[in-house]
Amino acid sequence: LAKGKGRHQVEWYSNEMHQRLWQRMEVEVDLRKAIFRNELKVHYQPIVSARDESIMGLEALLRWEHPQKGMVSPAVFIPVAEESGEIVALGWWSIGQICRDIHYWENTLLKQIRVSVNLSLDQLHHPDFIERFHETCQNMKVSPSCFRFEVTESVTMANVNETIHRLKQLNAMGCELSLDDFGTGFSSMSYLQQLPVQELKIDKSFIRKMTDKKSREIVSTMIHMAHVLGKNVVAEGVEKKEEVDWLKDFQCDKIQGYYYHRPMPLEELLKVVSANGKR
Ligand code: C2E
Ligand code: MG
Ligand code: MG
Ligand code: MG
Repeated sequence: LAKGKGRHQVEWYSNEMHQRLWQRMEVEVDLRKAIFRNELKVHYQPIVSARDESIMGLEALLRWEHPQKGMVSPAVFIPVAEESGEIVALGWWSIGQICRDIHYWENTLLKQIRVSVNLSLDQLHHPDFIERFHETCQNMKVSPSCFRFEVTESVTMANVNETIHRLKQLNAMGCELSLDDFGTGFSSMSYLQQLPVQELKIDKSFIRKMTDKKSREIVSTMIHMAHVLGKNVVAEGVEKKEEVDWLKDFQCDKIQGYYYHRPMPLEELLKVVSANGKR
């Protein structure tokens, strides 16, 4: 607290803290109603080939249109949902919606494209996760091979043996796996080597710094290392032509970012691909 600045300063701080707490509780309460009030939507961001720029996959990103607050960013509501436990329900809603969308694009150019879905810790480690995902796919008549799950290092480090077991079960069902926000965690090489993920996604903070030569060398080394480990590499948050050029130069496999496509509603995505006449 603001020592020596008097009583009013102290009050001001505690008011602000109180307000922040209140806002968080509001988000938490509203989030619980968001599903049945139809306020959630799944947007899709294309992931393109670094070779020919064709769309190789999609990342599903949750969007929440709050009746008063407007669009609330996942950067705000996902952490709240993770803390309150609501993320489990949101996650199932989202997987169900994605299954419906997969049927919707069955007879379009997006046919058989793989969708990347972010998994929070409580989702992957939920006792019923594997079984319920399997059931959902069966009930919705969607193949698990339509899915790729994205986990961060912190999600996989929670309970290493159990995580590896679960990831292997998902692999065995036909799902692919990616390590999200790669480079921001603390994984050792030996840990990365035993993680059954097929892909590493280089975090956008590394891409942003590529104007600096040293940082470019780091990105180039990360890509090389991933390839040595036998994994594909996606660069996230790519916004500029020069970033694309460097990444191609470094043999990066796939690119995701505003430079090519923003996350968008399915209707818009279908317009983009049909206008191009190809993925
Ligand atoms: P993420 O999984 O790392 O997703 C990538 C984020 O980068 C997305 O933010 C995407 O919109 C943003 N992005 C993509 N290209 C660019 C670019 O060129 N420049 C910049 N500045 N940003 C770019 P978004 O949609 O706000 O999501 C934030 C995070 O929230 C995600 O990070 C993910 O961790 C989490 N999240 C989103 N949807 C879900 C979900 O359905 N389930 C769970 N568990 N987490 C989710
Ligand atoms: Mg992700
Ligand atoms: Mg993430
Ligand atoms: Mg990421």
